[in-house]
Amino acid sequence: MKNPKFSLAGIALLMLTIPSSVAQSSTNSNPLPAAKPDPQIAAALRQVSADRIEQTIVKLVSFYTRQTLSSDMPASSGKGASAAAGWIKSEFERYSKDCGGCLEVKTDEFIQEPGPRIPQPTKITNVYAILRSSDPANAGRIVLVSGHYDSRDSETNDATGQSPGANDDGSGTAVSMECARVLSKYKFPATIVFLTVAGEEQGLNGSAHFAKMAKEQGWNIEAVLNNDIVGGDKTPGATTQDPHVVRIFSEGIPAAADEKQSKTIRSLGGENDSLSRQLARYIAATSQEYLPAKSFQPLLIFRPDRFLRGGDQTSFNQQGYAAVRFTEFRENYNHQHQNVRTENGVEYGDLPKFVDYGYVANVAKLNAAVLASLASAPAPPANVRILTKELQNDSTLVWEASPGGLATSYEVLWRDTSAARWEHARDVGNVTRATLPMSKDNVIFAVRAVGAKGNRSLAVVPLPER
Ligand SMILES: [Zn+2]
Repeated sequence: MKNPKFSLAGIALLMLTIPSSVAQSSTNSNPLPAAKPDPQIAAALRQVSADRIEQTIVKLVSFYTRQTLSSDMPASSGKGASAAAGWIKSEFERYSKDCGGCLEVKTDEFIQEPGPRIPQPTKITNVYAILRSSDPANAGRIVLVSGHYDSRDSETNDATGQSPGANDDGSGTAVSMECARVLSKYKFPATIVFLTVAGEEQGLNGSAHFAKMAKEQGWNIEAVLNNDIVGGDKTPGATTQDPHVVRIFSEGIPAAADEKQSKTIRSLGGENDSLSRQLARYIAATSQEYLPAKSFQPLLIFRPDRFLRGGDQTSFNQQGYAAVRFTEFRENYNHQHQNVRTENGVEYGDLPKFVDYGYVANVAKLNAAVLASLASAPAPPANVRILTKELQNDSTLVWEASPGGLATSYEVLWRDTSAARWEHARDVGNVTRATLPMSKDNVIFAVRAVGAKGNRSLAVVPLPER
């Protein structure tokens, strides 16, 4: 039945009159006010350069294709995935030279066996740089930033056609590399890994191999920031792009949750409190601290990824790590997974001229701020529990001190069960137990550790203890 009040024309008018990001970025919570920035981190962010990012992306595009199946082209040809991998490695090495050898530059190279998008055994090379900590008690803690350097055109398995991949994902690769260039000039208590992977377009092969290796070797990765399609859009007439917003996708129910964990999540109403979601909230809070909201802010999307699409964060989620995806506000499908061509006056292809380098620089600043904040902060408190031995209207939380000795105090956070972000924080001092005069039935609690310079750990939601 037709309702004249809700005609299609009316809906179209409504869509035109509400700026889409404003409509979508409203949340049902009043987040905590911004904390005081750490001067060292603020100084680092000022060195993020849109010009450097442009040079990186233009150079990546110059390899003609970085499609994963092109890795058998000789690197000496200056074309293909192996040549690109070699160049990324040499850039990391150059950054390392500038900081007295502070970066350990490595490759994770393997042969991917055939699969749906891998017709024959194919060499895949992940390239990464490690900024080791100077603090042995915290060196085992790792934060990681990633982008995929492989590209593709209209055909998934076309190894030889032109695949510039400026935005998808030259932009994310450039973010990881720019973070390495800038942050390698500083020292942090925890370890930072700057990763670039291949095989994303063929089935997340590179990240899956890397995440599995990390898990098998017992890496304590606190956070993974995956950047994929963070180039913005400078196509003439692309008026619905919002150059001030980047989306952060995070999983709810963890991909790695076993039956027992899933049961706990169901019984507690914990579906909105995965490790990845705490990381997403941390990113939003860090952005408030370091980037003026009018010029740039993240939009939290509470789902693992977009419809029909996937990304490397999932490989890390599957190994139980907190991992989120950064993606521009509105994607232009004419400029991803397309052969370079002009049809009926429309330009297709993922070319550098459509990338907004100032936008990528803002994404890089946000990534660098989160990496530096987490790497400067104490480890999260361990074994956080909420006591549920008896029926009470007060709530008592207990935890073990943050390992590594950096915590100078702790904060108890809480929010309404229906709120998107942490709304309240109480400084409880350097203790491992706190009682608050409110019912655990009505809010969601968490505890985080605070360091001497005010850097906060990720928040930890308690498990019940009877
Ligand atoms: Zn991509």
